[in-house]
Amino acid sequence: MRIFAATILALFCGLAAADATDRNIILVTLDGVRIQELFGGMDASIAASAADSGIYQIDVTRSRYWRDTAKERREALMPFFWKTLVPAGMLLGNQALGSKVTVRNSMWFSYPGYSEILTGAPQADVTSNDIVRYPHETVLDYIHRTLALQPTETAQIGSWQGCKMAASQHDGTFFMLGAFDLIPAELSTPEMDLVGALRPQVMELWDESSDDALTFYLGLAYLKRHQPRALWLGLGQADYWGHARRYDRLLDYLNLADSFLDELWRTVQSLDRYRDHTTLVITTDHGRGRTPRDWVDHAAGIEGSQDIWIAIIGPDTPALGEVGGYADVTQSDIAATMLQYLGLDYRKFNPVAGPPIPGSLKSH
Ligand SMILES: [Zn+2]
Repeated sequence: MRIFAATILALFCGLAAADATDRNIILVTLDGVRIQELFGGMDASIAASAADSGIYQIDVTRSRYWRDTAKERREALMPFFWKTLVPAGMLLGNQALGSKVTVRNSMWFSYPGYSEILTGAPQADVTSNDIVRYPHETVLDYIHRTLALQPTETAQIGSWQGCKMAASQHDGTFFMLGAFDLIPAELSTPEMDLVGALRPQVMELWDESSDDALTFYLGLAYLKRHQPRALWLGLGQADYWGHARRYDRLLDYLNLADSFLDELWRTVQSLDRYRDHTTLVITTDHGRGRTPRDWVDHAAGIEGSQDIWIAIIGPDTPALGEVGGYADVTQSDIAATMLQYLGLDYRKFNPVAGPPIPGSLKSH
């Protein structure tokens, strides 16, 4: 009788909790990707002038990415994102359709954006991109603590050194990999060692960041080997090409980043622990200027820098596709949205965090 009762109890609890206890969350950030390219592909107003765009060979760029309609242009730019991910998940931020996503912080650059994503609120003391830690518990800290995860089961891997700082209020809480860090020997494989050794050799525009392809393949190798429950993969090159006023290379990069998302999702769906148990949240830390002159920049006062977007795909996300006529959401809502997929209550994480994105949790 006691066994019977226990079985019934287990079944009952199982029904209530099975959706969350075996779930995983992956956050991918693509630094400084504008809504204009994401929703409309190649922007004619920028490409019209070589001085504004910095495009080296307009014929080459046009043949790759110019199409007659915005729908065709964005699919040419990011085919996996538009043809596979969005129809099976949800995408917010297309202001032309009445879906608005903005940052709440007043800085409109990277660290304040990552801090808002990870803590669920703008943080008044985060006013620079200085590579320092702040005493605010992050959503990764909270997941790690609340689920009592092993040090390898929560992970941050990023191209920008600042990501390692933004990931946690404490150094060494869980696995964090800065711009040029090697994966420690006890956790690495020959593949990780080789890719890691290339990080200081492949030159980027700024020495605070390493190459996104190397970061991506380190992240993918780590995912396969250590199978974290929570992973933040931070990619940065969209921002570099923007600041360099190289619209051609920005578009090429977005096309490359799309292939990373494709490979990441196919890998997730090929592994037993992750298949149909893993939510992928993809977003950006800030937008950029809207005009052909200032699309390269972002900061307080450069209108457009506050405009962002959020994409989600996973077993608990309704297949709403590109949403329109939707409630406004903010960057502060991302942490709570991530937590809900793990069955965790954001109010216990940060009482002033934004709420989960409305309609982002499917009722099973
Ligand atoms: Zn930037």
